[in-house]
Amino acid sequence: MSTSTATANLRLQVLDTGLIQCADYALYSPAAPPGTEVEMSVRSYLVEHPDGLLLWDTGIADSIAARPEGERLNETHVFRVPVTLRGQLEAIGRAPADIGLLGLSHLHIDHVGNLDLFPGATALMQRAEYDAAYGPDAEALTYIPETYAALDQGKIQKIVGRHDVFGDGTVVMVPLPGHTPGHQGLLVALPETGRVLLAGDLAYSVADYAAGAVRALNFDLDASRESIDAAKALEARGVEIWLHHDIDAQREIATAPGYNG
Ligand SMILES: [Zn+2]
Repeated sequence: MSTSTATANLRLQVLDTGLIQCADYALYSPAAPPGTEVEMSVRSYLVEHPDGLLLWDTGIADSIAARPEGERLNETHVFRVPVTLRGQLEAIGRAPADIGLLGLSHLHIDHVGNLDLFPGATALMQRAEYDAAYGPDAEALTYIPETYAALDQGKIQKIVGRHDVFGDGTVVMVPLPGHTPGHQGLLVALPETGRVLLAGDLAYSVADYAAGAVRALNFDLDASRESIDAAKALEARGVEIWLHHDIDAQREIATAPGYNG
């Protein structure tokens, strides 16, 4: 199958999976003065491929939606969920059981909420992420194992390097390590929009990405810079880079029930 034929049937639904209210953006952005308050978007993505559905990240837990004031994690972070993942899937005619594949950029708390909705799905992640998140130093590496305890370890597929999910070049996992040991992005070839890199936590804003500014608390700062450079090499070849935590950039991108074709 040629790439153009394969691409013709591909669609991407962008799902709003929560808000992070942060009272100290300097924790994320090296350019931010300490104490800067920001709201950060959270996104998950439903990739509709003729051979199956892939959900990329599962956002902040739907259970928080019951509390409009949100859930306070600590002194600097409140999570809110104005609309649930389940409700957004229902609105586009999808049930959680329809989703056979989960792809995880990494296993931080705001990317693994709602895994309990998908007990039958196979989860794709980098082996380096698995080893870190399920290893003896998980907490020290900033993971919270109970937030992904719902993942069936027998249904985890560990990937090393690039991985062409459907075998036709339209949906490809791309390692972008640094934020965490096995952080990765998803490169999706859409028929009209063109190629898009769902870049996860590669950077927290378009400005930081452009400046190559890396969060000081990342696992590996050199690898983080190399991953930004790798994304810029893709961008130079026409790929759009989507940074899901940049709420201003995300306002420009249609969320479900609209879709990106
Ligand atoms: Zn994140």
